[in-house]
Amino acid sequence: MKMENKVCKNKNCLKPLPDGYKHKYCEACRNQQAQKVKNGLKAAAGVAGTAACFAITIVTAGKIKPKQ
Ligand SMILES: [Zn+2]
Repeated sequence: MKMENKVCKNKNCLKPLPDGYKHKYCEACRNQQAQKVKNGLKAAAGVAGTAACFAITIVTAGKIKPKQ
């Protein structure tokens, strides 16, 4: 029983993948994903940075004005 040819897992792409191809997505989709991950990391870093600033502000404010 021969296995079906693999296709790209991107439902909008479904490009046939060559035999022995070790990724689930074609090169184009992998590049797109890498780009998305990069953008996602940037966004996450931005959120984390904002949260860190916020936390530092709270900690600093707490040190300046102790509540005891
Ligand atoms: Zn693809």
